[in-house]
Amino acid sequence: MPSQILSQKLVSNKIKIIYIAGLGRSGTTLLDRVLGQADNACSTGELKLLWRRGCVKNQLCGCGKSFNTCMFWYSVMTQWHMCTKRDKFCIEELVAAQQESISYWQHITNPSDVLHFSYAIYQLYRAIHLVSGAEYIIDSSKHPLYGLLASHIADEFYVIHLIRDPRGVAYSGQKKVQRPDVQNDIKFMTQFHPASTAMKWNATNLGIEMLLKRKAHKYVRIRYEDFVKDPRIAVTQIQNNLGITLTQLSKLNQYDSRMGYCDVELNKATHIISGNPMKLDQSPLRLKQDNEWQYRMPFKDKALVTALTYPMMKRYGY
Ligand SMILES: [Zn+2]
Repeated sequence: MPSQILSQKLVSNKIKIIYIAGLGRSGTTLLDRVLGQADNACSTGELKLLWRRGCVKNQLCGCGKSFNTCMFWYSVMTQWHMCTKRDKFCIEELVAAQQESISYWQHITNPSDVLHFSYAIYQLYRAIHLVSGAEYIIDSSKHPLYGLLASHIADEFYVIHLIRDPRGVAYSGQKKVQRPDVQNDIKFMTQFHPASTAMKWNATNLGIEMLLKRKAHKYVRIRYEDFVKDPRIAVTQIQNNLGITLTQLSKLNQYDSRMGYCDVELNKATHIISGNPMKLDQSPLRLKQDNEWQYRMPFKDKALVTALTYPMMKRYGY
């Protein structure tokens, strides 16, 4: 732990991070938003992309306003600049540092970079904590190596490992989905070949178990399919396993087996800069099984993904 960060932590409140780890298209934004409805939690989305998508590209926040006009992020960045101005952080440096997975590893293995980079991230968490007043910061950055960095920064680091059937992830990863949060341009979510998704699914879940599980104050593994089937049970399991209490989450409706879904009322805005396009949907969150892949995905793709992920699929009960 860098000494500069330690000295800051001694005079500040505890930074408690609930880190949602997993591969993209696994429901991480959905879980982030549901947990973010708790009175004592602040939903932030994929914080690792804040510098690029927020500071540089001024994309839309989950509240519907652009990053630069959202009062929440304006207050957070004002606080962040106040605390870091003497260090003259260059946003472009932070963007570059977060572009590629390999750079996380370089930052972890290069102590001077760890100090510099971690301090910027620590001050971001601290600013969010001060502005939101929330006890828990929910960060769905997903990546195991970024999570490792965050684990060094947090006073209490909780990991929710979210897993989805790799065939569903692969099917979703092939879809062409426009990103509504990009202004004045047409951009689509990155598409992946099923084989690429399968290999990433293995590597990500293995990385989370090998790196984050050990570093976490508490760890819980949740399957996306179980979460959307009955979020009340899943949220209870999360709280019990992490040893935390998320207040006012009792408003989750029970799964309606007749209708095949459950709705979650949105009682407060969530300021997610980076995440699934559903971050902008302000209607009640409808949680239902997304099993389109089971009847739409070509057999050869299902077979390919199954063959490449079979050992870990079995491990996770698929
Ligand atoms: Zn906002």
